[in-house]
Amino acid sequence: MGLEENLPSGFLLSTVEGLAGFARKGSLWPVTFGLACCAIEMMATGAGKFDIARFGMEAFRASPRQADLMIVAGRVSQKMAPVLRQVYDQMAEPKWVLAMGVCASSGGMFNNYAIVQGVDHVVPVDIYLPGCPPRPEMLLNAILKLHEKIQQMPLGVNREEAVREAEKAALASTPTFAMKGLLK
Ligand code: SF4
Repeated sequence: MGLEENLPSGFLLSTVEGLAGFARKGSLWPVTFGLACCAIEMMATGAGKFDIARFGMEAFRASPRQADLMIVAGRVSQKMAPVLRQVYDQMAEPKWVLAMGVCASSGGMFNNYAIVQGVDHVVPVDIYLPGCPPRPEMLLNAILKLHEKIQQMPLGVNREEAVREAEKAALASTPTFAMKGLLK
């Protein structure tokens, strides 16, 4: 999007934020990206019993340029990591990442050199979903939580302010920085 990112803070920006959040959360298109056993549960979520089409998300896109949600379903090998990053880079902005299952979130039981110990080493993750594998109901719940996050997403100057506050809070929780009095 463009113009709304340049609006000054105030009533108008807050109204546009609400509208943009509503439109964005209702038009998520996931990219086709299954990596391991978790992908079977993701596919089940798209089938009739669980019916991800209720949220207009049944069209898993074959091209990252038509997608704005990456569900990392399964463990990420070191060999796959650069490919995953390339797919992420080609996705349309704004975009979101859901780490599905313990393997994608933290490496899970694969504590070895071949598996990335959490996909957040490769792409920024918006929501983590625990479980091995998480059931389709759990994936749907995570998607609803992501919808809430997208609805609340600030734009323009409000987002810059939110990012500054988040960084400050993260640094304050790091003892080294807090002790050295590096925070103003
Ligand atoms: S979390 Fe479990 S089901 Fe999912 S990829 Fe890892 S081993 Fe497979």
